[in-house]
Amino acid sequence: MVEIARSLDTKKTVLAHEVWKNSLLDNSIYRGKRLFRCLDDHCGAQLTLANWRVEEPIRAAYFKLSSREPEKQHKFNCQMEYGTDDEKNQLLENSTGVTMMDADQQTVADQIENTIQITQAIRPNKSETDKFIINKDSSALSVTEQDKIYKNYRTSSNIKGLTKSTYQSLMPVMLWWKDHPEGILEKINWPAIDREGQERATSFITPLKFNNPFLLNNIIINLNEQKLSEHEYNKVKIFYGEFHGSSEESSNHTLFSTLKNPSVLFKIRNNDLKNVVGIKRLRQAIKQNKYIELAFCGHFFFSKKDNHLVFVPRTPAIADWLAILGK
Ligand SMILES: [Zn+2]
Repeated sequence: MVEIARSLDTKKTVLAHEVWKNSLLDNSIYRGKRLFRCLDDHCGAQLTLANWRVEEPIRAAYFKLSSREPEKQHKFNCQMEYGTDDEKNQLLENSTGVTMMDADQQTVADQIENTIQITQAIRPNKSETDKFIINKDSSALSVTEQDKIYKNYRTSSNIKGLTKSTYQSLMPVMLWWKDHPEGILEKINWPAIDREGQERATSFITPLKFNNPFLLNNIIINLNEQKLSEHEYNKVKIFYGEFHGSSEESSNHTLFSTLKNPSVLFKIRNNDLKNVVGIKRLRQAIKQNKYIELAFCGHFFFSKKDNHLVFVPRTPAIADWLAILGK
């Protein structure tokens, strides 16, 4: 059982998940479920896609041997089947440019269900929220309606084999992370602005742009568990933790702080906040003087002038960089 094979139709290396998705289309590029070969060209065993054209598979798609006959098994020296982890990784890297990290074959299947890709969409205006979640001002919705949105997201994201999606705003990414704490980010292409509000090709900040698969956890700084250290400054990350919000009546801003990392402070204009899903929960928490789980994406720099850390959000669109998560 493998997640990756060579297609006889395209001669290319393909993921089982991609073939499965394509097999559901009328004009599928793959002509049949048996037209696949073991990735080790010296072996070339014939493989069949399980779940071919199954609309709601119980588990993620994978390739299995097409036949039980002894002469149709993997060759004794097949590196995909019998190779060491290093050999398999080398084979995968040569044919795809993708390494499966330290995973063994058993866990590759879980990883395929367990991956997302993140890209940036073009927004017509900065207050527009993510269509995936909601397309109107979320403060107009009741708490029950907002709960329904969370639930809908969770249901759709949990369908096995369908989690390889593209996200642009922080909320679905964080909800996905909560469901898949060991989730793998296949690639991410999130631009970021600097403190002048410019997105520059050569900037001293490091945006979230990678093409290699890695744990989503690696770009999330859990402020409940670790102190923000100097080597995280000027790098765009997702910061997560329990925050306390206090309204500054005079400036129409809300100030956020966290007990565990007192140096981490940031302000958001109340006018911007009203466009975020979960704003009612947030307002409730502020009123009751309670902590609330938040995530925000951007970078911190140390301002020598003011002698404190300053937060710069990743983009001007608040749904891209702020997620109100919990109670
Ligand atoms: Zn083989």
